[in-house]
Amino acid sequence: MFCHQCGKSLPPGANFCSNCGAQINNGVFTASPASTMFRPQAMRMMAGVCAAIALRYGWDLTATRILAVVLGVLIFPLPEIAYLVGWLVIPEEVPLAPQANYGPPPR
Ligand SMILES: [Zn+2]
Repeated sequence: MFCHQCGKSLPPGANFCSNCGAQINNGVFTASPASTMFRPQAMRMMAGVCAAIALRYGWDLTATRILAVVLGVLIFPLPEIAYLVGWLVIPEEVPLAPQANYGPPPR
């Protein structure tokens, strides 16, 4: 599937474009949040968990990161643990359109 705004290839089940943030109306909405989340490769600062949450729920990415930092201080170490769990649970963004190989052909 591809973003209808910028044309970037998106993982199946994505609700928001990882490139431009456009909402993807694919009609697929499963019960498990983790199954519709992914850690985008372009927007991450650490493991991309904040970006995954922001994309999944349509939150502002900067606000999500600030919230994560504030919560990390206020109710330490719960957000840090949640971040590590999210790192393990939320799948990596998988590029669906691999780069073309412009190298010499195999012999
Ligand atoms: Zn897009």
